[in-house]
Order: sequence, then C-alpha cells, then structure tokens
Amino acid sequence: MILGFLIPWIAMAAVLALHVALPGRWLDGYVRDAAGRPLRYRLNGLLVLAVTVGLAVAAVALGLAAPDVLWRHRWEELAGACALGLLFTAAIVLPAPPVKPRLLADLYLGRRENPRWRGGRVDAKMWLYLGGAVLLELNVLSFAAHAERLPGDLRAGVILYAALFTWFVVDYLTFEHVHLYTYDLFAERVGFKLGWGCLVFYPCFYCVGLWSQADEPDPGAPAWLLVLAALTFLAGWILARGANLQKYVFKRDPAARAFGVLAPRAISDGTHTLLCGGFWGVSRHVNYFGEILMATGLTLALGDPADPIPWLYPLYYVALLVPRQVDDDRRCAAKYGPLWDEYCARVRYRIIPGVY
Ligand code: NDP
Repeated sequence: MILGFLIPWIAMAAVLALHVALPGRWLDGYVRDAAGRPLRYRLNGLLVLAVTVGLAVAAVALGLAAPDVLWRHRWEELAGACALGLLFTAAIVLPAPPVKPRLLADLYLGRRENPRWRGGRVDAKMWLYLGGAVLLELNVLSFAAHAERLPGDLRAGVILYAALFTWFVVDYLTFEHVHLYTYDLFAERVGFKLGWGCLVFYPCFYCVGLWSQADEPDPGAPAWLLVLAALTFLAGWILARGANLQKYVFKRDPAARAFGVLAPRAISDGTHTLLCGGFWGVSRHVNYFGEILMATGLTLALGDPADPIPWLYPLYYVALLVPRQVDDDRRCAAKYGPLWDEYCARVRYRIIPGVY
C-alpha cells in the first residue's frame, strides 16, 4: 500500500537525480530573461527515459517487481501523485510574491514563470514534463503487461496502443528542444495547473483508455480497426510534429527551408513575420488538430470504441486546446495587430480545416 503511494515520489526523485547526473546538451530556449538573454536549458530526456525504463525492466527480470506492479498499485499511485502535486504546488507558489489579488488564482496558475536552480541545470518545467512523460511510459508498459497477463493469444490492440504511446513519449523527448518554443514554456506560470497537471494528470489520466480496458476480456478488434487506429495516429503525428518543427525552424532562421523542402511562405509588417504556408497555411493551429487525431488513434487502438471511458482522452484535448487556441489567438492579436488580422484573413480556420 505505502509502496504504491510512494511510486510517484520515487519516480520523480529518480528522474531528477538522473537528469542532473547523466550527460546533457545545453541549448538556448525561446524564453528570455529580464535582460533579454535567452534562457539556457540542459536537455537529456531521452537518455533519462531509456535508463529509467531499463532499470524497471531489470527489476522485473530479477524478480524484484511484477511486470504489472504499477497496475496493481494504480489507485495508491494516483493518491501519491495527488499528494505530491498538492505539496509541489504549495512549495512553488506560496514563497513567491503575489501576482493576482486572490490566493486561489495564484495557486492555480502559479506566480513564477520559470523557477530554476543551479544556473538552469534544474528547471521546474523541464523536470515536470520529463517526469510526467517517464511515469506515463512506465504506467503504459505496466498496464499493458497486466492486459497481456493471461496465457494464450496476445491482445493485438493493447500491443498497438503501447507501441503508439511509446512512440508519443519517445517523440516528445526526441524533440524536447522544439518544445522550448511552445506556449507552456513562454506563456504559463508554474502552479497547480502545470504542476499537478504534469505530476498527476499526465502520467495517470493520459492512459485512461488502458486503465479502463486492461482488466477486460479481449474485445477481438478486427484488423481494419487497428489499421484505421494506426493511420489516424500517424496522420495526427504528421500534422502536430510537422507544424511544430516548421515553426521551430522558422523562429530560429526565418529564411531556412523546413525539412529541406518547404520554402518559408510568410507575411511581414517590417517588424514581425508570421508563417502562412505549409502546415501554418492549413489552419492556424493544425498542430492541435494533430494532437486530437493522435489521441483518437490511441483510443481506437484499444479495439472497443463502444467503451466511453477511453474517449475521455481525446475529449480532454478538445477541452484543453480549444480554450488555449482562443487565448493564444487573443495573445497573438495583441502582439501582432493588423499582421495577425491579415494572417486570419489568409488562413481562415482555427484548428480543423474546413470545419472550425
Ligand atoms: P503553438 O505551437 O501553436 O504556438 C503558438 C505560438 O506560436 C503563438 O503564441 C505565436 O507565438 C506563434 N505563432 C502562431 N502562429 C504563428 C505563425 N503563423 N507563424 C509564426 N509563429 C506563429 O501552440 P502550443 O505552444 O500551445 O503547442 C505546441 C504543441 O504542443 C502543439 O502540437 C500542441 O498540440 C502540443 N501540446 C501537447 C500537449 C500534450 O499534452 N500532448 C498539451 C499541450 C500542447 P509568438 O508570439 O512567439 O510568435
């Protein structure tokens, strides 16, 4: 019981220790400090993931833990993550000077933009995103092991789900540098929303589909459904990763060709430039559409579309990303003025081309 409760604490401490101890590369981020200098980040997420998963596999191989240990202790793990998330929120928010008049607003949204220590070697946001991703991967593997525990045929849908989620996590950590250019890094403060979100919601809720399905009998998904699931995920990945990479290349060098082929099509007012071609000419947030498609593919991979619980995952993206798009468009309209109006006139759809 107590072991399950401590799992998130131990995992986050291990991630922190590995992140600090293992070799990493230093990179300039997009966020700037008060003097206008880019914040420097030390990145080694993929290595931390590989070592953590390797240690977990070794523990299972040596008989120190059952493959589905995280499944068996999932409720205690959830309780431990909630407690850690609350403690983290209080510790990171309360000592800092107020931002809003109401304490509750500060607790939820945070007070500090980029808490970091040891000259940036430990950055709160990077630790939270890395720890959340690692714990999510461990949960997915352990829940999948539980679903495959019975002798007999393996559940193809569960294998596909675990493979696609592993792709999602590995992809995220491979392109950790691209995420230095995203909203979470430049527009969010660190409070309950981001802290509890990464410590609880990310590792425990993202795999809600398997949480619902791992103990159920094999729904016997037809091959066409699994192919559809994989293609939906792939289409979503191309849109999300493609758009994020194109913008990353453009922000670093507005004249560079993305992927070696896409010449930058951009509009400018002499001060600012905005992409309006490639992925950024399809809709203003086609990356959000990609994220929703990936979540839909993962849900379909489980092979039981009649179960409503796995659909909570794509629905969560809709609930997260539509308000974010509204907020981001407001922010961009204020920052870019008439140039943003011109971009909106050229690229009419906000997220889903032809629909919204
Ligand atoms: P975007 O990558 O769309 O970034 C928005 C910012 O990009 C704007 O504020 C603006 O910043 C800049 N921008 C907007 N339009 C243009 C343009 N036409 N040309 C150049 N720059 C432009 O959004 P996010 O940062 O929110 O998301 C990044 C990724 O992370 C997405 O793929 C998203 O789906 C994903 N994500 C994933 C989550 C998950 O849990 N898996 C959760 C949340 C997000 P500026 O002022 O700097 O120009």
